[in-house]
Amino acid sequence: MEDMEIDGTEAQPYVLIETGNLPITVGNRPIYTNGRYISKSTPTPLKSTKTGVVYDRRMRYHANIHEDEHHPEDPSRISSIQSMFKAAGCLEKMIPINAREVTKDEVRLVHTDEHWDFVAKTSALSEAQLGKVADDYNSIYVNKETALSARLSCGGVIELCKAVARGDVTNGFANVRPPGHHAEINEPMGFCFFNNVAVAAQCLKRDLKIEKVFILDWDIHHGNGTQKAFYNDPNVVYCSIHRYDNANFYPGDPQAGHTHVGNGPAKGKTINIPWPRPGMRDSDYIYAFNKVVMPIAYEFDPDIVIVSAGFDAAEGDPIGENHVTPAAFGHMTHMLKSLAAGKLVLALEGGYNLDSISNSALACVKVLLGEHPAKLGPIKPSQECVETIYQVIRVQSRYWSCLKPIYIDSAEEKVPGKLVIDIMDMVKLFRTRYLFSKLKMVPAPLAPERLANRFTDLLSSLYNDALFLLFSNDLHCKDVIIFFVHDIADTCATSNLTNLATSYMSDSVYQYIETIINQSYGIVDVDVPPPTNDTQKTDLHDLKDLLIFLWDHFVEYANPKKVVIIGAGRGCRSLMHCINDRDTMIMRFTACVIMVPGNNDPVPTIAKKGDIVNWYYENSLVLLPENHSVWTKKGVKKDSGKCISVKGLNNMSIHDKLHILRQDIIDYFLQRLTDFIPPRQ
Ligand SMILES: [Zn+2]
Repeated sequence: MEDMEIDGTEAQPYVLIETGNLPITVGNRPIYTNGRYISKSTPTPLKSTKTGVVYDRRMRYHANIHEDEHHPEDPSRISSIQSMFKAAGCLEKMIPINAREVTKDEVRLVHTDEHWDFVAKTSALSEAQLGKVADDYNSIYVNKETALSARLSCGGVIELCKAVARGDVTNGFANVRPPGHHAEINEPMGFCFFNNVAVAAQCLKRDLKIEKVFILDWDIHHGNGTQKAFYNDPNVVYCSIHRYDNANFYPGDPQAGHTHVGNGPAKGKTINIPWPRPGMRDSDYIYAFNKVVMPIAYEFDPDIVIVSAGFDAAEGDPIGENHVTPAAFGHMTHMLKSLAAGKLVLALEGGYNLDSISNSALACVKVLLGEHPAKLGPIKPSQECVETIYQVIRVQSRYWSCLKPIYIDSAEEKVPGKLVIDIMDMVKLFRTRYLFSKLKMVPAPLAPERLANRFTDLLSSLYNDALFLLFSNDLHCKDVIIFFVHDIADTCATSNLTNLATSYMSDSVYQYIETIINQSYGIVDVDVPPPTNDTQKTDLHDLKDLLIFLWDHFVEYANPKKVVIIGAGRGCRSLMHCINDRDTMIMRFTACVIMVPGNNDPVPTIAKKGDIVNWYYENSLVLLPENHSVWTKKGVKKDSGKCISVKGLNNMSIHDKLHILRQDIIDYFLQRLTDFIPPRQ
């Protein structure tokens, strides 16, 4: 392109045209090069976006026969959205696509003949019979017009999808009801009769030879019907972001969990992103899009994208209890527009707060029409979101190369003759060796049989030592001992392990140990063993026993004059049990207690009353981020110790906190040790 001649003296627009190898001249000047030439002719206008909209007032006829009982899936849902489009001046820019009734032939692509007949027959039922039908099924109501509304809703989504697939319009919004994604192959469910999106996707494949369809379901509920319809289909991706609450949120099906990925050749084509709790926000959805939805969508490379666009995850929805703003819906629409040459259909599903659904739908339609989505603010996903996404990636990385590193399932990989080692074991082993060679720290045997059985794993037994317990040489000669309780899963950080040759491990406790040993103090370093498969309760109970044992046999037995106790992350809670149990001795010898709890961990509290509460308050330092939940309470009680809010710690890992706070923590305990006058013995 470098030798291309461009006449820069004139202001007319130029167009680049492919010419093959024909020499072209304009006037006397040949202005072609490499088979292309620059023309001064009028450029063809940019293809403008055309946005379709489906609406038919007959879809309002489906209504609860008990008029005095308000039902959330109310006919005014679609009229309020339509009014919003009109009031915002969007409707006049959109191209109406007529809804029509879906045919039996189309419905049968997803549902059974019996289901078609069942829906059709409802229009001939008496009021009493309609009431009976509603009672027989899971979360539906029926009137004489239900069948018509359901056929129009489904037919409307088909027509819009076909218009987009053919290129009649670029994208569009199907403002339809009743919704569809809960409808099962053979029964209505959850306000749904025909699975609008699933039927439309099948019609595109059959009638327009569309090969690959990407369905994104952002309704707060899992689309059980859609998942089932495509569970064996490698050419349709079903990706759902939904509230799950460990299968306690509607539809309450464990199939909505992240481990359900599709079947046979369709493995990986079902992607469930199940939120563990209500209250998820914009950041969580955008994070899910950035980490999972968009990478997979790009890798899949669909011919069209259909969104099951429920707005019951929107801020203000009485059922969903999430907080997704119109701006975030706009951003998700914007991201999806980048796929499939812009062929994007949004089809309404749930959403029960009229203001929320209207504002959210409007934000999406504005983006469909070409506006930029509104500014979002910084994206800071919640801990639960990051953990959920991590679990999804672990499972889906087997099927998508964009989601590396590959997850190795230890249960499947651990076969006889194959060496599979827990990276955590490698870190522990290395840490033991390293701390021995650099600082003469030694691992300790764990004497009592019960504790040894409980806490000694395969690796420890190979070395006859409990690798989670390291102590400094000649501990018994030391005047000062630091009892440091942490979990190396928290305090060690690794770079990503996609390539071992460029991966690193960093131990934030190392510099503490080095300082302590350089001061000629003793240290007992406890890496709290990971939870077992047993209940958390047993685990806490065992950890408490373990720490009390270590206190008695390593700290107190060494007979120091002064002690400093430090807890980090998961270590804090177990440590507090130990302090509660050994309060008399601990109060006598301890110069101070320092706690660095995890961001979402409750601040551990002293259980006992009396002197210990005052003592703990006077002699502790609990370092917390500014956004820790403890600050939302009115006045932090003394039994939580001296809680300090530290700037800059928000959402920071324990590893990073220990690193950043190191000088402050060390200065603090050195000063306390100087000031502390031990009791006479
Ligand atoms: Zn829903």
